[in-house]
Amino acid sequence: MKVLLLAGGPPGEHEVSLSSARGVLAAMPHPTELAVIAKDGKWLLGEDAHEALQAGVAEQGTHPFPPPVPWQDYDVVFPLLHGPLGEDGVIQGFLQLLRRPYVGAGVASSALCMDKDLCKRVLRQAGIPVVPWVTLYKGETLPEIPFSPPYFVKPANTGSSVGISKVKAEQDATRALAEAFAWDSKVLVEQGIEGVRELEVALLGNIHAEASVVGEITYQAEFYDYETKYTPGKAQLHLPAPIPPELSERIRATAIEAYRILGVRGMARVDFFLSPQGGLYLNEFNTIPGFTPTSMYPKLWQATGLAYPDLLDRLVRLALEA
Ligand code: ATP
Ligand code: MG
Ligand code: MG
Ligand code: MG
Repeated sequence: MKVLLLAGGPPGEHEVSLSSARGVLAAMPHPTELAVIAKDGKWLLGEDAHEALQAGVAEQGTHPFPPPVPWQDYDVVFPLLHGPLGEDGVIQGFLQLLRRPYVGAGVASSALCMDKDLCKRVLRQAGIPVVPWVTLYKGETLPEIPFSPPYFVKPANTGSSVGISKVKAEQDATRALAEAFAWDSKVLVEQGIEGVRELEVALLGNIHAEASVVGEITYQAEFYDYETKYTPGKAQLHLPAPIPPELSERIRATAIEAYRILGVRGMARVDFFLSPQGGLYLNEFNTIPGFTPTSMYPKLWQATGLAYPDLLDRLVRLALEA
């Protein structure tokens, strides 16, 4: 079985993707080749791709899209790309046109899970608890916010906390909105949960998923921001989370139910919030979670008894299942 790994992508999570790819390439139990999408949207193939992986960043590529990749030589394509164009259904649609099986969620499901506004609307409709929020498109004036600060202002379609700010006082909202709108034309203003506990679970499967143990993340920072996520030692991962078994079971069952509703294939890391009052909320779905040295998804599976190479093998096989 021959695999093609795609990594890099646009600026937001470009470096994260390359870091994820280094880990996956080292552990993949099938012959795997690499293509890197540079920040300028052009592709690097062969040796150039490996050089970019070692450098940890590729500003400029060589081949404009569509690149001269012998797609039919690969049994499975693994788009290990985070954020817009890679995790939101765009590359998935291209792979579908090429008729190549690929790892992870399909077009509609990827798009739905990437867009935090649409995803939360679907989950809320299904009776799954989500944190209240207001949606704002570029150019619109901020409506009356039906909750009090702190707020979290976030682009609808990013990951790794890119473009996200915590707003503690009304007057800081303008700057936070400008930061979020630099990344997306749609932004969420979400009620901030003070003293939140962050719980995450890893799912694996096509539509009908199995769930890992639940993990918890703690840190000293104001919130789980980019620096806290990727600087080793800045966040502590607790596997499994020190929570009652009933709560852990509720998290796993809720994630599995939501996975089916959102039509996810392959994998997802599902992030939950637990408020000090005991309220449990589904925060978000990540259909292409990080595979970096500090990333939760592979660690959650490892803590569940599924080793990294076996996890990758499962993902490749799930891509080939109808
Ligand atoms: P990921 O890297 O997991 O894809 P993301 O960029 O999609 O992250 P979120 O998970 O929505 O963004 O938010 C990032 C972090 O911001 C959360 O892990 C949490 O620390 C903080 N946060 C976001 N929304 C809230 C909220 N409503 N209340 C409290 N903290 C929040
Ligand atoms: Mg996310
Ligand atoms: Mg993400
Ligand atoms: Mg998250």
